[in-house]
Amino acid sequence: MADRAGIAIHGGAGTILRSTMTPELQEQYEGALQAAMDAGYAIIRDSGSAMDAVAAAVASLEDFPLFNASRGAVFNHIGQHEMDAAIMNGRNLEAGAVCGVAHVKNPVLLAREVMLHSGHVMLGGKGAEEFARARNLPMEDDGYFYTLQRYNQWQSAVKEDKVQLDHTDKKFGTVGAVALDKHGNLAAATSTGGLTNKKFGRIGDSPVIGAGTYANNNTCAISCTGVGELFIRSVVAYDISCLMEYKGMSLQAACDLVVMEKLVKIEGEGGLIAIDKHGNIAMPFNSEGMYRGCKDNDGRNEVLIYR
Ligand code: ASP
Repeated sequence: MADRAGIAIHGGAGTILRSTMTPELQEQYEGALQAAMDAGYAIIRDSGSAMDAVAAAVASLEDFPLFNASRGAVFNHIGQHEMDAAIMNGRNLEAGAVCGVAHVKNPVLLAREVMLHSGHVMLGGKGAEEFARARNLPMEDDGYFYTLQRYNQWQSAVKEDKVQLDHTDKKFGTVGAVALDKHGNLAAATSTGGLTNKKFGRIGDSPVIGAGTYANNNTCAISCTGVGELFIRSVVAYDISCLMEYKGMSLQAACDLVVMEKLVKIEGEGGLIAIDKHGNIAMPFNSEGMYRGCKDNDGRNEVLIYR
């Protein structure tokens, strides 16, 4: 089975409610998911690395304004974009992450630079931005990240805060990818603008290795989406890997236990995508929907939004 290859991607677990989705919008989402998946899949199909595949897929999703990552990222409480991203190589457990960054066109590519060239695993804020400039990564001004849809979401969240309503309508549009290449290597990457109206300086699960992002050739590769605080507290991605490694559980069983039982118990709304070393794919979620897709060299090609 050494030449099994597959990729799974997500565009977040906070999908538009089925009742407000239009056929035109659905087509746009599905088209963007398919294009990102194809970009990543082409790399592993041609014997490239899982790392390159997840970076390419996530960068493609970051460039698409309807997802909450880079272009189209949500606003924090003070009306700024603060983005988080991570990437991990299952072959050697190398990882890179950035948190609270602005102006970086593709935070996932900065995370990879951090992994390869910084001597560190995670860089935050201004230091991360300075590093991006030093590595000559494309930068954009604030306007690039702005979308009217996110602005309106932020405004209504601010209003709810004023009247102290519950935040029941959080939007999770984070993006991520996991892949297995023909050399048997796994990789995972995640990128997000975080939660709408989050506090200035808040960091979610996406850049936290073991929480929102994890890859290990002995087990699986995982990218999460959902309420970051609960995913951090549950160490979701690493928990699934551990259940497989120490308890011998299958990928699907481990994912179901963590997403459909453990997270549900603490109201940890969200989901994840996962692929194991044999090419099995799981995409569990406990929310109404999750933008997602998967493709492998066994002929599977799916793009889905709702259950
Ligand atoms: N998990 C992300 C965060 O809490 C949000 C999301 O999945 O959209 O930052």
